Amino acid sequence: MALTQLVSEEEIKEQRFFTQRVRAVTHMFDRIPLAYTHSYGCQQNVSDGEKINGMLAEMGYGFTDNPDEADFILYNTCAVRENAENRVFGNLGALKHLKNRNPDLIIAVCGCMVQQGHIADRIKKTFPFVDLVFGTHVLHKFPEYLYSIFAEDKRVFMIPESDGVICEGIPVKRDSDFKASVPIMYGCNNFCTYCIVPYVRGRERSRAPEEIISEVKGLIEKGYREILLLGQNVNSYGKDGSLDFKGLLKELDSLEGEFKISFMTSHPKDCTTELIDTIADSKHISWHLHLPVQSGSNRILKLMNRHYDVEKYLSLVDYARKRIPDIQLTTDIIVGFPSETYEDFRETLKLMERVKYDSAFTFIYSKRSGTKAAEMDDPVSEEEKGKWFRELLEVQGKAGDEAYKKYVGKTLRVLCEGRGRTDESLYTGKSRQNIIVDFNGNEQHIGKFVDVKITKALNWALVGEINE
Ligand code: SF4
Repeated sequence: MALTQLVSEEEIKEQRFFTQRVRAVTHMFDRIPLAYTHSYGCQQNVSDGEKINGMLAEMGYGFTDNPDEADFILYNTCAVRENAENRVFGNLGALKHLKNRNPDLIIAVCGCMVQQGHIADRIKKTFPFVDLVFGTHVLHKFPEYLYSIFAEDKRVFMIPESDGVICEGIPVKRDSDFKASVPIMYGCNNFCTYCIVPYVRGRERSRAPEEIISEVKGLIEKGYREILLLGQNVNSYGKDGSLDFKGLLKELDSLEGEFKISFMTSHPKDCTTELIDTIADSKHISWHLHLPVQSGSNRILKLMNRHYDVEKYLSLVDYARKRIPDIQLTTDIIVGFPSETYEDFRETLKLMERVKYDSAFTFIYSKRSGTKAAEMDDPVSEEEKGKWFRELLEVQGKAGDEAYKKYVGKTLRVLCEGRGRTDESLYTGKSRQNIIVDFNGNEQHIGKFVDVKITKALNWALVGEINE
């Protein structure tokens, strides 16, 4: 385990100094300068995006959804899929005309994609109008980099190699005023053979429990009602400290108020029956376990370097269902991993028929350069993988059709999040199981818990009527 490198108070002070220097520059604009930022990818990236926006707000920027009117544009990128990277290159290319029109526009790219040296080099050479590129380990130095662009009028490329740092005290501009993401750890030690994350996010490092507890306490006092704890593998939180993940959950669960705690992502190798007991015995923790199995074949799990087998996985599922009968179980599945045979794939189908997930995020394997799996033989055609994938969807479709029927007639407590996505006349929220519930609410319900009597089950949501 790498030693946690905590960014010192001195360094944080230095960044506050640069924040003030940029603020002095933005004050000289004849109007409030506007920033357009976009975060691609996972919740962790979205959470980093909220920090970037927090720093921008302190540096005197306002925000816009329209890149055409922005003075500062930033793409916070994701590296998980190669085709998403190509999309970023396409989007960057399209910014050239904006820079031609307004040479003072500052264009920045950060996040996992640019943490790969060859990508940063390509941006440097091919996109001369990009002013700033910085990697995942130096996010906290954004004010310093932005200031040097204003002061020295030169391009800045900062992609240091590192096992990663933890920086407390970065300002956060949250996207919601009742749902908050709270990273509890960063990085990953697992090196699943298909995944690029450990190469771009550094080694696992956990925030101190007192920092997390005080942040969550502050959020609840401000009226936040859902706290999403984030980490690539939350179950290994605190392995380098005194409090493990279940201990942290117990501390957070003991806080006063009405709120819900969710977390993502769980790795089956580190998920324990004690963690499931903690969820079962809690007041506030979601009855939702997203436990990515990836494959039902032990041979493929080994090739994926997942460090669990189907038997261990099923014993966790059985225990979770026994302790929390209403738990929502969801998963991720990769179809067509290199060397996977139809026999291996049938093992996955068998597992899905046995578990009957409430829902599953299913993907056809997509090659990710820089990973071990990218070097493996992959003889099965895309067409064949497509056929398997459709078979898998059919099995999951049947399980999904059945999954929510048991809730019809029951009353669930739901955190209302806003207008319905498919039916604007309804309001929508999520239950303690994290199931989407649409109901006949009103604007006053947004951000509040309400009791909803379920009248109908769809395969992706529930529909009900509010009990006032
Ligand atoms: S646990 Fe595996 S899949 Fe998840 S981030 Fe780490 S290496 Fe990637």
